[in-house]
Amino acid sequence: MIYEGKAITVKLIDDGIAVLTFDLQGESVNKFNRLTIEELGEAAAKLGNANDVKGLIVTSAKDVFIVGADITEFKELFKGSEEELVANNLKANSVFSAIEDLPFPTLTIINGIALGGGFEMCLATDYRIMSSKAKVGLPEVKLGIFPGFGGTVRLSRVIGADNAIEWICAGGEKRPEQALKDKAVDAVIAPDALMDAAKTTMKRLIDGSLDYKERREEKKGKLQLNAMESMMTFETAKGFVAGQAGRNYPAPVEAIKVMQKHAGMTRDKAIEVEAKGFAKMAKTPVAAALVGLFLNDQELKKKAKAYDKQALPVNRAAVLGAGIMGGGVAFQSALKGTPIVMKDIAQAGLDLGLKEAKGLLTKRVSRGKMTAEQMADVLNKINPALGYGDFKSVDLVVEAVVENPKVKDAVLREVEDVVREDTILTSNTSTISITRLAQNLKRPENFCGMHFFNPVHMMPLVEVIRGEKTSEQAIATTVAYAKAMGKNPIVVNDCPGFLVNRILFPYFGGFNLLVRDGADYKQCDKVMERFGWPMGPAYLLDVVGMDTAKHAGDVMAEGFPDRMQYSEKTAVELMFENDRLGQKNDKGFYKYSLDKKGKKQKAVDEKVEQMLGDVVHKKGEFTDEEIIERMMVPLCIETVRCLEDGIVETAAEADMGLVYGIGFPPFRGGALFYIDTIGVEEFCRIADKYESLGKLYHPTDGLREMAKSGKKFYG
Ligand code: NAD
Repeated sequence: MIYEGKAITVKLIDDGIAVLTFDLQGESVNKFNRLTIEELGEAAAKLGNANDVKGLIVTSAKDVFIVGADITEFKELFKGSEEELVANNLKANSVFSAIEDLPFPTLTIINGIALGGGFEMCLATDYRIMSSKAKVGLPEVKLGIFPGFGGTVRLSRVIGADNAIEWICAGGEKRPEQALKDKAVDAVIAPDALMDAAKTTMKRLIDGSLDYKERREEKKGKLQLNAMESMMTFETAKGFVAGQAGRNYPAPVEAIKVMQKHAGMTRDKAIEVEAKGFAKMAKTPVAAALVGLFLNDQELKKKAKAYDKQALPVNRAAVLGAGIMGGGVAFQSALKGTPIVMKDIAQAGLDLGLKEAKGLLTKRVSRGKMTAEQMADVLNKINPALGYGDFKSVDLVVEAVVENPKVKDAVLREVEDVVREDTILTSNTSTISITRLAQNLKRPENFCGMHFFNPVHMMPLVEVIRGEKTSEQAIATTVAYAKAMGKNPIVVNDCPGFLVNRILFPYFGGFNLLVRDGADYKQCDKVMERFGWPMGPAYLLDVVGMDTAKHAGDVMAEGFPDRMQYSEKTAVELMFENDRLGQKNDKGFYKYSLDKKGKKQKAVDEKVEQMLGDVVHKKGEFTDEEIIERMMVPLCIETVRCLEDGIVETAAEADMGLVYGIGFPPFRGGALFYIDTIGVEEFCRIADKYESLGKLYHPTDGLREMAKSGKKFYG
C-alpha cells in the first residue's frame, strides 16, 4: 500500500502500475471536499517519491467517478475575500498539478459520472478511458461560477478553444460518444472491460510505444492559436454566449475572457488567471443565489425522501378529466413509466388528450430523444376510458375536471365508490380548499391536493396539499408519485391559493395598483423581464387567462379581504369584462397572431391603452426602480406570511416553490433570499415608502422583529 486515507488509497499492482482509488468513506458518492483534496496532495507526494512506480491508473470504487466539488462547502468558502479564494484555488491546483507532473504516465478510468472538479481531475492525467455508461462535463456555470481546478486551462488545450467554450459555457453533461468525438477522452469502453483496457494502455505508455510526454507538454503549454485565430474564436464566442446567457448570468462570458487571457500563457501562470477570475465570480450575488438554490434543492430532495418509508406503491394511476391538465398528467405519468387510466365524460376530451400526448412524443422522436418503439410504449401506458371499468386496480387518482366545486364534489364522491379503500384520491384544483373538498368524502384521510402547473411536462413543481384530515400516508404516497413523475414535490398546508398562487396574486395586485396609478403596462413588462422574470406581469396574465385570473382573484379576495380585496375595479377585471381573455382568445393586454412556425406572437394593441382609461386615476411616470419595488414588495411580504402561517415549513421550500412554480428569477434565489440580499431592515424601509398603498405593502410584525434583531432567513 503506497497510501491509505479516508477518501483515497494507492496500491501497487503488477508491473510497476499503481492504482489510485477514490472511495470517500461514509458517503454514497465521491466528491472533492477538503479532505479529498488534502489526501490527493498527500498521495501525489508519496507517488512522487515511490521509486518502484512506473505508471498510475486513477479510478473510483463507487458507481460514480467523482460528482464534483462538495457544494455544501461553497457557502462558507465563498464568504472569504477574493484574495482568500484565490489562495484557496491555487492551493487546490497545486495538488492537481502535482498529479500532472508525476514522473511517469498517468491515466484515468472514468467509470461513472465525472463532473466539475471530478472531470478536472481526469484532465490532470495524461490519458482518459471512459465507460460507455459514464457522463462527463463542467457544469459550474449553473452555479454562477466557472471551473476553478484548472478546467478552463486544461480543457481548452486538450479539445481546443472552440469546443472548450461550448463545454464550459453551456455547462452540459456529455455522453461518451460526444466526449470521444471532441477528443476529451481517448477511448470509450464497456464498464466490465475498463481495467483491462487501462492496464494494456498503461503498459504501452510505460514501454514507450505510446508517447505521453509530448501530449503532457502540449497540455501544460500555451494554447495553439495565432493572434488572428484567437481573436476570431474568443470575440465571436463572447457575443454569442452573452446573447444566450443573458445579462443576469455573467459567468459564461467571464469564462471566455479568462480563457482568452490565459491562452498565451503556460500552465502555472494560466492557472493564476483562472483563480482570479473564479474568485471574482464566486463573490457575485448571482453565485450566492445559485449555490443557495442548489442547497435548497438538496434539502427538498431530502424532505421528499423522508416520506418514502410511509408511501404506498403507485403501480397504476388514473386521471379524471383529459383537458389541458389531465392530458398533461397522463402524458407525464406514462412517460416516466407509471401506467395511467385517463377518464373523461366526452370522447372528444379523450381524443384531445391523446392527440396532445402524441404531439409531444412525436417531437421527442424527431429530435432523436426517443425511438418510435419507445413512443409506442409510452402511448400504450395511457389507457383512455369513458367509464370506471378497471378502477379497482388504481392506486392513486388525480382529479383534473373543470374548476367547479359542485362538479368536483360529484366526481370525487363517484370515484371514491369505485376504487379500493386504500386508493389515494387527489385533486388538481387551483383554488378550492382541500379541506372543503374532503368534507363530502367517506375517507377524507385518503385525500389531498396534487397541484400541477401548466404545461405539466415542462413545469417542475407539484404542490402536495395537506387538508385538515389528510393522513401522512396519503401525503407520502402523493409525494412519491410526484417524484416518480420526475417532478419536485413540496408539501404545503391548505389555504386559498395554497403556496404559489397565494404569493403570485399579491404580485398581480401590485401590477393592478401600478396601472391604476398610471403606469404603462408595457413598461412594467419590460422592467420585470429585465429584472429576470420569464415574462412581465401583463404578458403573464395573458398566458394565465383573464377568466382564470379573475376567478382565482375572487377566491383570494374572499380568503384575504384585508389585503387582496380591492375597492375599485382592477385592470384584470376590466379586461375580463371586455372579453379580453388573453392568449386563449388572442386578445388581452396584447393582441396575438400566429407566426410562420405556428407560435403565438404578441403585439401592442392600441385599443388597450384607451380601454384602461376606465381604471386609471391619473397619468403617472414611474422609474424602473419604483416599478420593481411596487411589484416585488407584495410578493415578498406574502411569502413571509406563508412561512409565518406555517403554509410552508421552511424558507428553502418557499423559495424553491417560486422558482419551480412561477419562474422566479433563479439568480435572485427566491423571495426570501431576495429579502436577505437587500437586507431585512432595508427591505422594510422600502416597503414603508409604499405604506399608503395598503396592507399588501405592510411588513409583518415578525419581519420587523427580524429587522431589529438582524436575523436573516438563511443563516
Ligand atoms: P379543461 O377544461 O381543459 O379540462 C377539463 C376536462 O374535464 C374536460 O376534458 C372535460 O370534458 C372533463 N370533465 C368535466 N367533467 C368531468 C367528469 N365528470 N368526469 C371526467 N371528466 C370531466 O380544464 P383544465 O385547464 O385542464 O383544468 C382542470 C383542473 O386543473 C381545474 O381544477 C383547474 O383549476 C386545474 N388547474 C388548471 C391549470 C391551468 O393552467 N389550466 C393549472 C393548474 C391547475
